[in-house]
Amino acid sequence: MSEYDYDLFVIGAGSGGVRAARMSSGLGARVAVAEDMYLGGTCVNVGCVPKKLFVYASHFAEEFQHAKGFGWQVDTPTFDWGTLITNKNNEIKRLNGVYQKILINAGVEIIDGHASLIDAHTVAIGGKHYTAERILIATGGWPSIPDIPGKEHIISSNEAFYLDSLPEKIIIVGGGYIAVEFAGIFHGLGVDTTLLYRGELFLRGFDQDLRSLLAEEMRKKGIKVEFEKNIASIEKSDHSLIATLEDGETIEAGQIMYATGRKPRIEGLGLEKLGIMTNENGAIQVNDQYQTNVPSIYAIGDVTDRIQLTPVALAEGMVLAKRLYANEDKDVDYSDIPTCVFSQPNLGTVGLTEEQARKKYQDIEIYKSTFTPMKFSLTDSDEKTLMKIIVDKPNDKVVGVHMLGPDAGEIIQGIGIAIKAGATKQTFDSTIGIHPTSAEEFVTMREPVSN
Ligand code: FAD
Ligand code: NDP
Repeated sequence: MSEYDYDLFVIGAGSGGVRAARMSSGLGARVAVAEDMYLGGTCVNVGCVPKKLFVYASHFAEEFQHAKGFGWQVDTPTFDWGTLITNKNNEIKRLNGVYQKILINAGVEIIDGHASLIDAHTVAIGGKHYTAERILIATGGWPSIPDIPGKEHIISSNEAFYLDSLPEKIIIVGGGYIAVEFAGIFHGLGVDTTLLYRGELFLRGFDQDLRSLLAEEMRKKGIKVEFEKNIASIEKSDHSLIATLEDGETIEAGQIMYATGRKPRIEGLGLEKLGIMTNENGAIQVNDQYQTNVPSIYAIGDVTDRIQLTPVALAEGMVLAKRLYANEDKDVDYSDIPTCVFSQPNLGTVGLTEEQARKKYQDIEIYKSTFTPMKFSLTDSDEKTLMKIIVDKPNDKVVGVHMLGPDAGEIIQGIGIAIKAGATKQTFDSTIGIHPTSAEEFVTMREPVSN
């Protein structure tokens, strides 16, 4: 009989925690998971899932417009925010139930409440103590908002998912995934949208050509995309908010949303008490086996601030469970992780950007194609799609593939498999295309544009 209540106690039932808990239980461990807000975590409740539903909702505006060119008469469409919110909330409730069932069916005990560490093998929730041989921290992240005057008037993505009504005008601050995705969402839903980013060009770290074209396409749609602008202070008037920018300009809006990154959620966990090491932004430091400096305590997912993506947290949860309870010694492969910004159009990418490839390799070839997708040929849209393949010339290996265009996320997922399998440009060239698609362009680009 073990001296502990559980073999594994997981703190946080988000993407990583749920995966680790149910896999470990499936492998024979006695597992409990504590959750203080919502089963499924950020992704299900205030992240990937509701975000993607909002992206779909907002895209209808263009679809109605485009339908006319194909002969459809669409009377002036109207949109009801309340219906979207209700239906989205119902879907999330359904998914919360699915997660509960998954955990219960896997034999995991769910404990409601905020967990904090008491010692290397004990967790407290609501005054009750639970002991475990191992503890896994999978508490995710939380929006990080700079300390500016008027900060109390700002919303983050958390609140954006639950607004009572849509504002007439919104300012979104930030130039990462969330800012760019929400600018497309609000604009598509009819909100006058301004995106302010402090740097020269948003989506730092993505391929420059795609970032530039996305900015252009967003502006063509009517989003006010402003670079090298930042808010200095915010004041509330009777009916709106007034943002004063660092250059003195003022902008009025009904809502101001900040998407300026997320910080690890470690408050009240009791890390200090145990001397668990964190880096300067609060991310829990782990070794390559997800172990903290207290050997019985592990951490995965956003709270370690490695790569903040759901599939990464899932992979870490799975690898850890197998390592601990199935004696498997596999690592998560963090190379060539495909990702997509669900901007409108999508920006999908895998591997190195042109800028990174130029630094890493002596001799590269760039294949590039810009075109108007066939779907727009009978519409008044001149939205461009851009595809790019980056090749390390001496061994013909494809080291980066990028796409800005409709469904880039769907398309790049498949390309990601090819890259993982070590595809060369010759592999791409010898693949027969699917005609007529946009994706076939990836196997028909023959002439490099530069090297
Ligand atoms: P989380 O999913 O955040 O789970 C942590 C859980 O721990 C939460 O449920 C929290 O309530 C709980 N918790 C925290 N502290 C305690 C405590 N002390 N006691 C008990 N419970 C606690 N990723 C993608 O791959 N694709 C996307 O399209 C995408 N879109 C996103 C959109 C938005 C708006 C946001 C904010 C994020 C998005 N992400 C996306 C990122 C993704 O949601 C995260 O990377 C992922 O959820 C991280 O999983 P996790 O398990 O580390 O943490
Ligand atoms: P990101 O880290 O992606 O972007 C943060 C942005 O805010 C950057 O442009 C940054 O600028 C800017 N910024 C940071 N601090 C300030 C400040 N004080 N004032 C003004 N601007 C500031 O964070 P997000 O919040 O957009 O998203 C968090 C993470 O969630 C993402 O990194 C991603 O991993 C994940 N996510 C994934 C999605 C997907 O897979 N589709 C969708 C949404 C989120 P600078 O570049 O100059 O540093």
